[in-house]
Amino acid sequence: MTTLHNLGYPRIGAKRELKFQLEKYWRKEIDREALEQTAQTLRQQNWQTQLAAGVEYLPVNDFAYYDQMLNMSTLLGCIPSRFRQDKYDLDIAFRMARGQAPSDETVHCCSGHQDSSACTMKKWFDTNYHYIVPEFETDTEFAITDTRLFDEILEAQALDAQGEIKLKPVLIGPLTYLYLGKKFGYHGQKLDLLPKLLPVYQQILEKLSQLGIEWVQIDEPILTLELDAEWKAGFTAAYEALAQSSVKILLATYFDTLGDNLSLVNHLPVSGLHYDGVRGAAQLQEVIDTCPADRVLSLGLVEGRNIWKTDLNAALEILKPVAKNKQNKLWIAPSCSLLHVPVDLDLEEKLDTEIKSYLSFAKQKLQEVSLLHKALNGQSVEAELADNAAAIQARKTSARIHNPTVAARMAKLDEVPNHRATPYVERAPLQHAKHQQKLLPTTTIGSFPQTAEIRQTRRAFKQGEIDEVSYIQAMKKEIAFVVEQQEKLDIDVLVHGEPERNDMVEYFGEQLDGYAFTQYGWVQSYGSRCVKPPIIFGDVARPKAMTVFWSTYAQSLTNRPMKGMLTGPVTMLQWSFVRDDQPRQTTCEQIALALLDEVQDLEAAGITVIQIDEPALREGLPLKQSQWREYLDWSVNAFRLCTSSVADSTQIHTHMCYSEFNDIIEDIAAMDADVITIETSKSHMELLQAFIDFNYPNEIGPGVYDIHSPNIPTVEQIVTLIEKAAESIPVERLWVNPDCGLKTRGWEETYPALENMVKAAKQLRAAYQAEKQA
Ligand code: GLN
Ligand code: ZN
Repeated sequence: MTTLHNLGYPRIGAKRELKFQLEKYWRKEIDREALEQTAQTLRQQNWQTQLAAGVEYLPVNDFAYYDQMLNMSTLLGCIPSRFRQDKYDLDIAFRMARGQAPSDETVHCCSGHQDSSACTMKKWFDTNYHYIVPEFETDTEFAITDTRLFDEILEAQALDAQGEIKLKPVLIGPLTYLYLGKKFGYHGQKLDLLPKLLPVYQQILEKLSQLGIEWVQIDEPILTLELDAEWKAGFTAAYEALAQSSVKILLATYFDTLGDNLSLVNHLPVSGLHYDGVRGAAQLQEVIDTCPADRVLSLGLVEGRNIWKTDLNAALEILKPVAKNKQNKLWIAPSCSLLHVPVDLDLEEKLDTEIKSYLSFAKQKLQEVSLLHKALNGQSVEAELADNAAAIQARKTSARIHNPTVAARMAKLDEVPNHRATPYVERAPLQHAKHQQKLLPTTTIGSFPQTAEIRQTRRAFKQGEIDEVSYIQAMKKEIAFVVEQQEKLDIDVLVHGEPERNDMVEYFGEQLDGYAFTQYGWVQSYGSRCVKPPIIFGDVARPKAMTVFWSTYAQSLTNRPMKGMLTGPVTMLQWSFVRDDQPRQTTCEQIALALLDEVQDLEAAGITVIQIDEPALREGLPLKQSQWREYLDWSVNAFRLCTSSVADSTQIHTHMCYSEFNDIIEDIAAMDADVITIETSKSHMELLQAFIDFNYPNEIGPGVYDIHSPNIPTVEQIVTLIEKAAESIPVERLWVNPDCGLKTRGWEETYPALENMVKAAKQLRAAYQAEKQA
């Protein structure tokens, strides 16, 4: 008999119940008891859903009020000194995540935002989920501190009077925990902490054993990275120590192959291994073939990272021989925790039925694993398998997905220019002349404050409460206001302010063929924050111009250059659920062609500065560094496909709101944007170093103030930052701009901040010009 289990279930709730309660609790509108009540209800519903699907080992501790890494930090007592108190309390975890005086704003930004005192947040591998980074200080000691793990086991056991349900607690493993943590004053190597950490893991395992737990799932996703010898040795040492405990360990890896860590994994003294057979497909057979005979092998062939229906017959072809060979030592589950997919497809009422028939969310994915389980255990599920085969086949040939016009264009992709006609040094003077570009030109990143009124108007239009004419009128009024403010501020290159955009990806996706949107397809991004990624189900094409109307209207109001504003192909890809029936590269190229059409239409309409935002370029990097080259080649090329056909005198900008470019700076330069604006103010320009060391050849606008903070920067602060940048980058190639878009700020902060920014630029402009003349 094969065993059915699950690695983790979304905790946020099908309708984001946890989110709303958390935010109420933080605003002090409800008390702790009410919050805990919601949390308990969600956990119990999740257990019920999983039991109903036949899950035999229910995950525990996949629930988190905020984040599973934060769960580990509080469990292990790894609490930064600035948050420590005599007694642990859930509010301490919230303070670690949100800072002492947390602000709460929507930022669709790659790096997220941290309050000065909060712990840092980072992306969980190559997902869009963010974890709270553990901090290691000189006085960090580990000890079991937060007892919630054990409480939740008791809670689940209390529901099960017969004692029939088997629980499987989920822990992040010690190596992954250390690897993802950050040294804060601690001088040793992170691995030096392992001997202090392991005894606490051992105590946890002992406690679990006393609670009657048989299996513990220990997640070590860093095993999919390319690890050096010390970390590998750390694994051996750690698991030899943990193997002493009386529980059985299911070591879980996911998101990629194990690469050359496979033999290490095969030699670890663990009772079971979970392997992601979807993202790790390339090594699946090897994993199966080399799995020690006495070890449980858990295979995940239902993808936990994407929303497509699984080809169950294909999965069965793989599983059947393993089942025969491993007998009851084969377990099956989704490929990873279901945290990364929306909860329940059944809630979608508006989704096109054909598209819906291609999809599967968390609840449906468990049903898929359940079908595999039944099939393997000899139950008759022919009818269901035939239905599945029909749905898979329909998707392969559907006219909704395959667009011959796109195919024809793609066949001639190599005829589309992917480099500008002339090098930057030759086109720059033409652009400068055309735009009468000053020294240290000022600009902004695109969005201006999205006031309650703007959001309300957009909502009213979407819900049909106001007609298109009034909507357009309202947006035009807003654009005119933003243009007027920028002229008053004396900014050099203007923007229209993006009032018509809810989200930088959704706005374009809604106007492109091949994209679909859900009502409840929420996925946790961090804490209470969720995103609803669009679904790219088919060939992408642009039926008609998307931004020309707004951009030309804005340009008609001013003599200064007005930037056209688009979201780049890589970001459009990265922040969506992407079809799995063709390489990501192909989908990205299709988007690039659609954007090329838009770029050409903007240019033809007289827009001569066009910005194409790529904030997600870096996060698309594969987990294994040896695969970066291939990704960077096609992603940079996609950017170039949509930007290379313009005239020499058209200035292409790009924006990325981070600046950890050290390891990819060559590729950033290869994008060959005339101007790149990046985030640098928080690091006081230190992050600019990569550009300096590389001798970045084109123009660059290092952000001079942090838009995530309500503080208004002073002229002096901005001057200092620009001067610092000008020490190493020729002032002729420097721009002056904020770190990112202004949509989350109010006008009362935005106006004075920009006023100071322009003053600073003018002051230095005059000084540098005087210097030149002298
Ligand atoms: N143009 C977008 C804006 O200004 C860019 C947002 C982003 O970089 N995340 O809002
Ligand atoms: Zn940004």
